[in-house]
Amino acid sequence: MAQVKEQKLEQLDMKREMYHMIINGERVEGSNGETLTVHNPATGEPIAKVAKASIEDVDRAVEAARNAFDYGKWKRYPINKRSRVLNKIASIMRSRFNEIVELEILDSGKTMAAAQGQVMQAIEDFEFYAGAIVGHRGTVNNMPGAFHNYTEKEPVGVCAQIIPWNYPLMMAAWKVAPAIASGCSVVVKPASLTPLTAIILGEICIEAGLPEGVVNIVPGSGSEAGNHLVEHPGVDKVAFTGSTPIGKDIMAKASQTLKRVTLELGGKSPSIVFDDTDIDAAVDGSLFGIFYNTGQSCEARSRLYVHEDIYDEFMEKFVAKTKKLKLGNPFEKDTHLGAIISKQQVDVIDSYVKSAVDDGAAVLTGGKPAEVEGYEDGHWYEPTIIADVTHEMKAVQEEIFGPVVVVMKFSDEKEVIKLANDSEYGLGSAVWTKDHGRATRVANQIQAGIVMVNCPFSAFPGTPFGGYKQSGFGRELCIETLDLYTETKSIISYYGSKPINPLGV
Ligand code: NAD
Ligand code: MN
Repeated sequence: MAQVKEQKLEQLDMKREMYHMIINGERVEGSNGETLTVHNPATGEPIAKVAKASIEDVDRAVEAARNAFDYGKWKRYPINKRSRVLNKIASIMRSRFNEIVELEILDSGKTMAAAQGQVMQAIEDFEFYAGAIVGHRGTVNNMPGAFHNYTEKEPVGVCAQIIPWNYPLMMAAWKVAPAIASGCSVVVKPASLTPLTAIILGEICIEAGLPEGVVNIVPGSGSEAGNHLVEHPGVDKVAFTGSTPIGKDIMAKASQTLKRVTLELGGKSPSIVFDDTDIDAAVDGSLFGIFYNTGQSCEARSRLYVHEDIYDEFMEKFVAKTKKLKLGNPFEKDTHLGAIISKQQVDVIDSYVKSAVDDGAAVLTGGKPAEVEGYEDGHWYEPTIIADVTHEMKAVQEEIFGPVVVVMKFSDEKEVIKLANDSEYGLGSAVWTKDHGRATRVANQIQAGIVMVNCPFSAFPGTPFGGYKQSGFGRELCIETLDLYTETKSIISYYGSKPINPLGV
């Protein structure tokens, strides 16, 4: 494991030919010299090489995190001091905002607007947890007689944090910020398609004064580096965001060492548009709901249920506006949809659309890989609306993870709640209505971790994010996340003057 020649971090350009992993506060090459090549999905061009973590590198990263946790000072710092470091991380990110946004666009193909929003949220997550940790505390509990009980929150230990490619920096921030705020050490495994901004985050953590070994970043493959982290006896907790099948595999493997597990998995989120709604607002919200981040969102509202009385008007507007959406240069402010992460993902999306058509569905707009002028070698898909579907179709039940929405007509509230809940997933959901009573009734009955009422947004720092059913468990982005990075220690004491002799001997 060669160490890279010492360079002051603030002198480092963010755009480089070679990125290193971060182990024990140092930028290092892979032990066997292997690298990953990362591509710009918009152009298909290779943009950089990244040191690829071997099993041995993962072992070193876990060892560094273990040492930092077991013998280091981070968890012993007064909370205010930890809090200051988190704020420092946020302020360095703020000062390098445009560079980080640019790197995120190059690595992921997402649009300027999406990247700016996500980088800003990553910054705000650190600020949120810098504050939240100060108020995170134990309890004092009722006890009989001269007994006293209080609880303390102690960091859970070394956390493996496995990140998907759709929000490379934001997902890293959702995980790293609450973990280090709590006093844990982390080993982050970014998605191999999009490792760059997580590496930058690791460098910024060092620059902000985080002690060595508290944050380690090991880019590498899921089946090798990711799997090794999940099985590693030196890891106390795994926090995973990604697909449901891999989540199940992780949960099974983590059981061998009884690791704490939180899983943020896939979704097939319903959006219900009632006949009393403001149709234009529902159209705009539904466009954002599915096409934001080019549909590559776990909480994408990919099943749309529209009341029969407004179906024609809604659909006319929804299809017309979808046809106006602009694909192209992600750096242009008015581009609406960015690239798809990979050629393979384009094929997956296309096969779902084809299966729907084979099953008898109608494509109202889109329906094929997009040809984008000037970006012929990139990976693109047309924003797609599919109607005339039935509920058991694959395209209605399975997560497509692209800019594809299936639309269905409904006639009454009870029926649509049943349809909305007819899914193995339960992450997001949306309700469009002006009737407050109905909004509340529906929100109560939907089996999902998040309900958006007349609102296109699913996540702000402070709002719980996570799923029901096979969308996983554990909530991120909120106060209770801190409970998932801590153990509760119960301290029971006796302060009576009379000695106790329970056995009576
Ligand atoms: P993925 O499951 O293929 O990979 C996610 C991460 O897990 C990657 O870093 C990958 O390298 C790693 N990995 C793969 N196999 C592994 C293994 N056997 N052991 C350990 N790690 C392994 O998912 P993806 O394609 O990167 O992301 C898309 C998925 O993520 C979608 O299903 C989406 O819904 C989900 N997602 C969920 C949320 C949420 O908060 N619920 C947020 C974003 C994405
Ligand atoms: Mn990339």
